[in-house]
Amino acid sequence: MDAATLGADLRELAAELGAHSVITEKLAAYANDATEHAGLIATPQAVLRPATVDEVRAVVRWAHERGISLIPRGGGSGFSGGAVPVQGGVVVDLERLDQVLSFDPEFWRMHVQAGVLTATVQRLARESGLYFPPDPGAAEQSQIGGNVATNAGGPHAFKYGVTGQWVTGIEAVVPPGEIVRYGGAVRKDVAAYDVMRLLIGSEGTLGIITAAWLRLIPAPEASLPLVAAYRDNASGCAAVQNLICSGVTPAAIEFLDSQALAASAGSFPQPLPGGAGFLVITEADGTAAEAQAAAADLREALVEDSVMLWAPSEPREIMALWRWRDGVSLAVAAQRGGKVSEDIAVPVDRLLDAIEGAHEIGSAHGLPVCNWGHAGDGNLHSTFMVDSDQEDELERAFAASHDLRKMAIGLAGTISGEHGIGWLKRGDLSLQLGAREFELHRQIKQLFDPRGIMNPGKKQ
Ligand SMILES: Cc1cc2nc3c(=O)[nH]c(=O)nc-3n(C[C@H](O)[C@H](O)[C@H](O)COP(=O)(O)OP(=O)(O)OC[C@H]3O[C@@H](n4cnc5c(N)ncnc54)[C@H](O)[C@@H]3O)c2cc1C
Repeated sequence: MDAATLGADLRELAAELGAHSVITEKLAAYANDATEHAGLIATPQAVLRPATVDEVRAVVRWAHERGISLIPRGGGSGFSGGAVPVQGGVVVDLERLDQVLSFDPEFWRMHVQAGVLTATVQRLARESGLYFPPDPGAAEQSQIGGNVATNAGGPHAFKYGVTGQWVTGIEAVVPPGEIVRYGGAVRKDVAAYDVMRLLIGSEGTLGIITAAWLRLIPAPEASLPLVAAYRDNASGCAAVQNLICSGVTPAAIEFLDSQALAASAGSFPQPLPGGAGFLVITEADGTAAEAQAAAADLREALVEDSVMLWAPSEPREIMALWRWRDGVSLAVAAQRGGKVSEDIAVPVDRLLDAIEGAHEIGSAHGLPVCNWGHAGDGNLHSTFMVDSDQEDELERAFAASHDLRKMAIGLAGTISGEHGIGWLKRGDLSLQLGAREFELHRQIKQLFDPRGIMNPGKKQ
């Protein structure tokens, strides 16, 4: 849409929302998400900042009538370019929908607007002796709406599942500008088709999520991590399989290969032995007695072939360990100034094949590569480390990522276990889905959004 027409349309909207909700200058803060390391930057034509669900409805109605593209934006921490306005359009910043609508600790539930930070939900739950298990690594930046829209995971998804498993209801605004609610405070609801679950993980392509009802559980009394180091990928992956087959249920099973470890070892809160070429981080939780018993089982399952076992027990050490784990992605990006990072997932018994395959693909494209992620879920952040000022390196990294996704499909896996398709993986969903599956996927989008205004070009 040309600037003059859009300008006139924006003035009409500003008359309804108030001028402070329509931003047309200093838009650089809305030009990127966490894919900036991969060089993805695009300035929107304008930014809208609705403060109520009725204002969101006015925005969607306005855009639908005029065929204007809307790009919903939560905390902007996404790793697939989903919130970046690559094809132009107007960003809808959900930050002002920041109300905790109700919190009933006695019934283990919370009802929040989409713009509430993930960390706020986690903190409120914790303060009442409860636990909101989804723990994506950018919790201080990401919003619940963004977590729901990407169905975000995290280390503890191994035991507790991803965000969607903690959502019992969703409110959203869908074209042509209507509020819909599926589920609610009720813990079970099989009445309708599971439309709520279509909205979960929809990456802003079906509508704008404005609120979610969340399920909580009593907090585990104790959480006891155990870190084990191995010489190489083969012995590390064998240890992960041993652990899963042992019958104990850890809360998390994370891994780093030697290249990811080399990038981040400098700040590891404990000396690492020289021969460490693969790290496993796991955790036992439950009542104090359960956690102690499970921690002993974890140790027994992991000890074979290990070159180090470390069991931090002080809260300060445990916090340092998980803070370090959250920082691995940034440490990797710092190696060469840029990275193109993926989130393929494979059946857990193919983890070693996937790690080795990623290294072969990196070599074939002449790029350094490292892998880390959620071993228990077979979910790898295979990452090609680049200098993002070098166009040629970026192009090779995108080609390598495409090969990596094909490899994941060949291993009976998925091209995205965590971050979604967004913009960076566009075009590759049809490699994973059969023709009929892909067509049904396309028709669902068409049904929700017949004019194609919601986050065009993404999740396809
Ligand atoms: C250091 C770091 C660590 C991370 N660790 C993890 C991890 O462990 N697990 C994981 O899954 N992810 C992780 N991420 C990625 C990211 O934090 C998640 O994808 C998160 O859920 C994105 O939330 P956000 O609010 O920042 O969304 P954004 O980045 O703003 O948007 C993401 C997508 O959701 C859509 N969207 C956002 N809000 C709404 C809404 N209200 N309605 C409709 N659509 C919306 C956007 O259009 C976009 O397509 C990490 C990111 C960083 C930077």
